[in-house]
Amino acid sequence: MKHTVDVAIIGASVGGATAALHLARAGYSVLLCDKAAFPRKKACGEGLSHIALNELLAIGIDVQKEGAPSVPYYGFSFFEKSRRETLRLSEEPSKPHGIGIGRFYLDELLIQNARAAGADVILGVAPQVNHHENFVEIMLCDKSYRCRSLILATGAYSRFPRELRIPEERQKKERLAVRIEAHVSTSNLEGLLPVVIENDFQAVCTPIAPDALTIGLMATAHGETNINATGLVNIIKRIEDVLGCKLEISGETHGAPSIGSVRRPAVYKNIFCIGDASSQLDPIGGMGMTQAILTARVTAETIARSFRCQDFSERVMAKNHIQNICNVVRPLKGYTLLSYMSLSNALGRETLGRIKTSFLAKQTMSAQSDRILPLSRALLSVAGRLS
Ligand SMILES: Cc1cc2nc3c(=O)[nH]c(=O)nc-3n(C[C@H](O)[C@H](O)[C@H](O)COP(=O)(O)OP(=O)(O)OC[C@H]3O[C@@H](n4cnc5c(N)ncnc54)[C@H](O)[C@@H]3O)c2cc1C
Repeated sequence: MKHTVDVAIIGASVGGATAALHLARAGYSVLLCDKAAFPRKKACGEGLSHIALNELLAIGIDVQKEGAPSVPYYGFSFFEKSRRETLRLSEEPSKPHGIGIGRFYLDELLIQNARAAGADVILGVAPQVNHHENFVEIMLCDKSYRCRSLILATGAYSRFPRELRIPEERQKKERLAVRIEAHVSTSNLEGLLPVVIENDFQAVCTPIAPDALTIGLMATAHGETNINATGLVNIIKRIEDVLGCKLEISGETHGAPSIGSVRRPAVYKNIFCIGDASSQLDPIGGMGMTQAILTARVTAETIARSFRCQDFSERVMAKNHIQNICNVVRPLKGYTLLSYMSLSNALGRETLGRIKTSFLAKQTMSAQSDRILPLSRALLSVAGRLS
């Protein structure tokens, strides 16, 4: 059976579901699909920044009031060897720096909102895609959907960008990144996320419920890709020492094949790449979901503009889009870079002096600089104290 939709979105995680919500609310017919069945857990540190929280609030989703368990946090405690540094980024109880929330709940919540806005949502089935000059055809559950624009929100590891011949740039070497869930009381963390830094790994411990913690574990840039079983036991022991209690590790561990390694154009012909499908931010800054949610909105705006003008030429679609995407992503990249450099500096492996102030200013000065610059300054001061 043949159907026509305005926009098809492959990948129904934070980026895809947010794009579907924007477009369906604007009155466009949307197909949102994902090979995974939801709700599901996935490799993520599960810290949702205040920037993302505000962005969702602006479209009527108050994540903290929707009934899903979440824990606000107000800053970080860095633990490196015997040192501890505290970075409190918000003092106001009603304005946390972010919240810990399981992707099991968050992604499902966004899908429910997209569905309520009118998006046709099909989960648990992998689609096939045929790309034509003026349209894209999606085959799913014995049905064929013809659409004007396609959004790839498939994260960093999907086969589609290659199948659709979207150009890509491969960057750093592969690094281990893994999500471990631990059961432990999180009430004594004083609203701060512990970040444990060792020679070959960094672990961000995000409380996601009063009795559960997500450990986002990443090899440092120079670290080996694989941390073996003994290494993992030692890491958990180190985190237990820092937290001063025993962790009960849940059997489920979710890994990511690589992080921060691929970059693709935000628009290629009539295909848009959003979130991790376009570029991955190092998880240490906790800006990945923020990038997915912001690029989803900007992309929905571009597509809506193309429909209004009935002009789908790549030149017109790309004209303001690339700049608008840069405006929202650049400051997030700047902040991520700073977080990474601060932690590296804490390890004595790099010096902040190596990043030129002008470069940082360029990275962080933009529409959102008012939100990002204070964080960047705070990070710089902690890095200075640690080094
Ligand atoms: C260890 C780790 C810790 C992290 N910590 C944080 C953090 O604390 N805070 C933060 O904001 N970010 C963090 N991130 C980054 C964050 O997880 C990602 O940036 C974010 O999930 C990207 O969202 P997305 O919607 O672009 O893609 P994803 O969340 O990756 O979703 C892609 C979706 O596409 C679907 N898909 C893929 N291929 C296909 C296909 N062929 N057909 C159909 N569907 C397909 C997948 O099933 C998936 O649901 C972390 C990442 C890692 C690895």
